[in-house]
Amino acid sequence: MDFLSKYFKEVITSIELLEKYSTDYSYISPIISSMRKLPKAVIKIKSEEDVKKVIELMNEYHFPVIVRGKGTNTLGATIPIKENTVILDVTSLKGFEKSKGYLLAYSGTEFNELGINDLPVIPTSFYMATIGGFVEGGSLGFGSLKNGAVWDNVTEAEVYTLKGKYTLTGNEVYSIAQSAGTTGILTRIKFRLVKNRKGVEIEKQKFNSLSEAINFSLKVIDYAEFISIRNYPMAKEIEPGENWGKWNVIYGIESDKGFQLKDIITTFAGAYFTVVNKTGLYYNSLDISLDELEKIDTQDCYISAELSKSSIKYFSHTYFIGCNKLPNVGKMFNLHSYKINDRVEERRLKYIINFKRKVDAEDLFNSGKLDF
Ligand SMILES: Cc1cc2nc3c(=O)[nH]c(=O)nc-3n(C[C@H](O)[C@H](O)[C@H](O)COP(=O)(O)OP(=O)(O)OC[C@H]3O[C@@H](n4cnc5c(N)ncnc54)[C@H](O)[C@@H]3O)c2cc1C
Repeated sequence: MDFLSKYFKEVITSIELLEKYSTDYSYISPIISSMRKLPKAVIKIKSEEDVKKVIELMNEYHFPVIVRGKGTNTLGATIPIKENTVILDVTSLKGFEKSKGYLLAYSGTEFNELGINDLPVIPTSFYMATIGGFVEGGSLGFGSLKNGAVWDNVTEAEVYTLKGKYTLTGNEVYSIAQSAGTTGILTRIKFRLVKNRKGVEIEKQKFNSLSEAINFSLKVIDYAEFISIRNYPMAKEIEPGENWGKWNVIYGIESDKGFQLKDIITTFAGAYFTVVNKTGLYYNSLDISLDELEKIDTQDCYISAELSKSSIKYFSHTYFIGCNKLPNVGKMFNLHSYKINDRVEERRLKYIINFKRKVDAEDLFNSGKLDF
């Protein structure tokens, strides 16, 4: 791999830095983090010319590659599991403009640079993540209840693959959204914008039963910015000072007088990460239809149900922490598997697999992360 420094200004090979690039926020999962390997080298991608050059070299030398934003994903999406992997750090591929209800951004642009108040969906990790990493690796976030998931808001994506450059539009963007960099290098994204949110007021309602909490949530679902339903242990762990009920609805309403978005996203939507970090307990997640949500009723472990919307359908993205057994309901969003097959729903997975077969049959992009 010595030849890489002939073509790129910055190639990292020091063991200390390679160690850093071999991990991501999946360190919280002992199962995933035990599988990581040291990469061979890291290339700092500075321009679209660098992107074209990498593709050329991959076609000639057939080496595996992982594209990396800020490495904040929690699912091992940027850890190498194959020897001789080269990491492409795209965080210098920056720049954006906002006009006529759309954002056009280079993939390495950070949310901190974009400003978040007019983004339809924002990850809890917005203070450290890139937009490209969110499109390729993320799913839901603050705003998902009103505006849907990441894939509902990307209207165009430009991606460099081993078989050439593609500009994907309409349903074709499913080929790369949540694909974890398994098909190519995403360079530019067109993303919907929404009206600037001024602030969000937080309301809390306490109930003796889960069904009461769900019924109340359904009454505010059309105008709330977010809704979290938490059982007593979860609510207490996050906010010990409050006198919580058995089941609690914490929701946000847009208001001039409310909190700034940036001040509440981490407190409210990031509850699961906070509790896992604090307790070290085993965790997982189920996507459950609202009709079946009553089946999760227990106080034996920590539960947080984040109500969301994807492809115009409401559901609950539900976190279970320290539970002996998951309820037999919904679809698993496996938080301990690096395979995207274990989290992407069937309909969109088909787009990713078809695109992968077409552009990377050799499995050089994020090798081993997609069964296709
Ligand atoms: C505290 C915390 C809270 C979080 N909250 C949320 C949340 O609310 N919603 C959510 O969806 N996620 C969340 N995440 C996960 C993660 O932070 C987000 O998905 C984030 O947007 C990833 O951005 P990143 O720049 O760190 O990407 P990375 O972690 O670097 O990459 C993510 C994936 O995208 C691929 N990738 C990155 N850039 C490119 C590119 N240019 N071309 C091709 N592939 C690329 C990578 O290969 C990888 O597979 C959270 C994580 C933490 C630690």
